[in-house]
Amino acid sequence: MIIAIDGPSGAGKSSVSVEVARILGFSCLDTGAMYRAVAWQAVQDGVSFDDAEALGQIARTREIEFAHEEGNPKPVGVSIGGADVTKAIRTREIDHAVSPVSAVPAVREALVAQQQRIGNAGDYVVEGRDIGTVVFPGAEVKVFLTASNEARAKRRVLQNEQRGVGSTDFDEVLADIVRRDELDSSRAASPLKPASDAVHIDSSDMTMQEVIDEVCALAKKAM
Ligand code: C5P
Repeated sequence: MIIAIDGPSGAGKSSVSVEVARILGFSCLDTGAMYRAVAWQAVQDGVSFDDAEALGQIARTREIEFAHEEGNPKPVGVSIGGADVTKAIRTREIDHAVSPVSAVPAVREALVAQQQRIGNAGDYVVEGRDIGTVVFPGAEVKVFLTASNEARAKRRVLQNEQRGVGSTDFDEVLADIVRRDELDSSRAASPLKPASDAVHIDSSDMTMQEVIDEVCALAKKAM
């Protein structure tokens, strides 16, 4: 079974995905981490974000692996080409690099194929931007999770503080979020948009627990 959770950055997709997966005994797939890993490799290799051919080549040839821990639905690490990039993909530099890289159709094609392979192997909560529209259009549950810009920036600052990486300046984080949403929503290839059959949840004035409960209820109804 696939539970697709799409939405803009900072809406709470990661926190909700992990807890829903824990409750239902599913695994989690964070597709944003895969785009971030490719962006990290591009920066590392000095590849221009205009060089679609080279970016596609990275996505096709560098293996992205998630490290799992027994009993934990959320992978504890991510690597690309054998390099551990768990923390490195959360920096502000990668926040900036990831949208142009993820707009390249060849990158998306390679990563979507991997995501489908992973998701088809079990019960997954898959979070991203195009999960309900492109990656798993037949997902049993589709959620489009949003929140106000301010609520999202506040949460992202907290998350960066906890992770000890990325900006913790509210205005800076807010500006980055708005810029990334614009890029992700306006790109030609698989833009951020809700699937026509997605359930919309605005988490601005909800606690994470309320969102988790609502997604679990949708999942139980679909089982
Ligand atoms: O979810 P996260 O904020 O980590 O995603 C990072 C970036 O990866 C997004 O801003 C977007 O450009 C890209 N992305 C995407 N499609 C997905 C997941 C993420 O284009 N399914």
